[in-house]
Amino acid sequence: MDCIFCAIITGDLPASVVHRTERVIAIRDINPQAPVHVLVIPIPHAPNAAATAQSDPALIGEMVIAAAAVAEQEGVTDYRLLFSTGVEAGQTVFHTHLHLLAGTTLAERLV
Ligand code: AMP
Ligand code: ZN
Repeated sequence: MDCIFCAIITGDLPASVVHRTERVIAIRDINPQAPVHVLVIPIPHAPNAAATAQSDPALIGEMVIAAAAVAEQEGVTDYRLLFSTGVEAGQTVFHTHLHLLAGTTLAERLV
C-alpha cells in the first residue's frame, strides 16, 4: 500500500515527530496553517476517523489525549482539533489523522 503516513510510521519517510505513544504518533505538518500545526496519527492504518472509530473506538480517545499532551508541550491552552473525511472536505492523505491547530486566533476561520 502506498501511504505517506505508514511510511513515516515505519521510518521510511522522515518527519518531525513531536510525541509518540504505543499506538499514536504526532508530527509537525509540512505545510502549517497556524503557528502550531501538528498531525496526530494512529499507527494502525484506516482511511478516515470513522473507520478508525469503528474498528477501535478507544483509539480515537487516545488521539485526543495525545493532542492535549502536544498542546501542553507547545505551551498553548486553546486549540482546534479537526478531522477531514473525503476529497470534498479537503482530505488529501487517506490515513486517519487529527489536525491540532493553535497559536493564533482561529475563531473566525474554518481551518
Ligand atoms: P488532510 O488534507 O486533512 O488530508 O491533511 C493532510 C495533511 O498532511 C496536510 O495538512 C499536509 O500538509 C500534511 N502532509 C502531507 N505530507 C506530509 C509529510 N510528509 N509530513 C508532514 N505533513 C504532511
Ligand atoms: Zn497508512
